Amino acid sequence: MKKEPEQMIFHALAEVPYAYSVGAEGSRFLAEIRDNKRFVGTRCPKCGKVYAPARKVCGPCFTAMDEWVELPDTGELMAFAVVNMYFIDPKTGEPAIVPYTYGYIKLDGADTTISVLLDELDESKLQRGMKMKAVFNEERVGLLTDIKYFTAV
Ligand SMILES: [Zn+2]
Repeated sequence: MKKEPEQMIFHALAEVPYAYSVGAEGSRFLAEIRDNKRFVGTRCPKCGKVYAPARKVCGPCFTAMDEWVELPDTGELMAFAVVNMYFIDPKTGEPAIVPYTYGYIKLDGADTTISVLLDELDESKLQRGMKMKAVFNEERVGLLTDIKYFTAV
């Protein structure tokens, strides 16, 4: 009788440090948050779509954008998730502090969303379409995490 080979599993952690440029538009978007607690976006001259975070080229039109628009610190909650599952935070290598809630906010006047933390952990108090407002960290470093969270208004 032929014996099946034993299944062997190799366990390891791969460390893959990386850095990438957010580009000129991404840099201005993040710098406005860091320096002025303000959102800006780019508007497509062809279809009028407003991007926040700012982008250089409109995806559907493939048109270069150079018009900047100022956007308010309020927006609409498009989707959210309360995270309760334990995991290792890839940014720190440490266990993440759970629970926390993140959501996709479409800033008023924008057509795209930003992914941010929300201050509400009770999902029964959150609803798609609800109005929310940004709260910024006092110390800001030029990352999207300079937005402390969005809170319901
Ligand atoms: Zn366009």
